[in-house]
Amino acid sequence: MATRIGMHFSLWASAWTREAAEQAVPEAARYGLEVIEIPLLAPETIDVPHARDLLAAHKISPSGSLCLPDDKLATKDPAAARDFVLRALETAHALGCKFLGGVTYSALGYKTGKAPTEAEYENIVVALRPVAKRAEELGMLLGLEPCNRYETHLLNTAAQSLALLDRIGAPNTTVHLDTYHMNIEEKGIGHGFRVAGARAPYIHISESDRGVPGTGTIDWDDAFAALAGIGFAGDLVIESFVTLPPEIASALCVWRPVAKDRYEVLEQGVSTIFGLARKHGLTG
Ligand code: MN
Repeated sequence: MATRIGMHFSLWASAWTREAAEQAVPEAARYGLEVIEIPLLAPETIDVPHARDLLAAHKISPSGSLCLPDDKLATKDPAAARDFVLRALETAHALGCKFLGGVTYSALGYKTGKAPTEAEYENIVVALRPVAKRAEELGMLLGLEPCNRYETHLLNTAAQSLALLDRIGAPNTTVHLDTYHMNIEEKGIGHGFRVAGARAPYIHISESDRGVPGTGTIDWDDAFAALAGIGFAGDLVIESFVTLPPEIASALCVWRPVAKDRYEVLEQGVSTIFGLARKHGLTG
């Protein structure tokens, strides 16, 4: 496997409709991207055969992501969380995804106001162990994305996430790292990648302001040198929240445009990331 660069679908639209997909997929291919991350918050709304044909025609691989709804928290109702992620997993598989990640263990912006408890972690294990098992049967990886302290109290760092993955005890579970969160929580982004090593094969590349990669304060050379150092050969998927559903924008506290338009991300941001990947020997 070689390193691939991709883009989260939210660059184009807030929901995967046939019309939005027909705009996004050819455009992603035109900019040399190889992966599109599809939000699977409402998997039943996706026209799977249409998506598969479109992705195949443009040689784009799909991946999937989600966060849990407020009424299906793994920490409070593990069975509801399990069923929500399982349903998305089946659609992800039908689409051809090899990875389902994101905040698969909680809702964005949900915090108790206290440190995570043993009981909360145990409920996440109960919710996600059967999901990991089903993912394994489907030949898929399940990612848990640690987020910054303002979006969750449960998993903020790579080290915390690894400890929880050990408890789930499934080799196909991964730490879904995101440079935006790492920039807030880790002792340097390179450090976070070194802690996670091979257990983070799918990563979100996001600038310090969620905008155009290369225009903020992330130390990208440190990040890519660390990726090269751990022999990274997975997917680097750019997350730039140009278009978000209102409830997600609210949960993530995105209150102003993070880029001029999507072309600023596709032209400037994508070429910055391709340049870094080449410079550090991650791609040819
Ligand atoms: Mn992310």
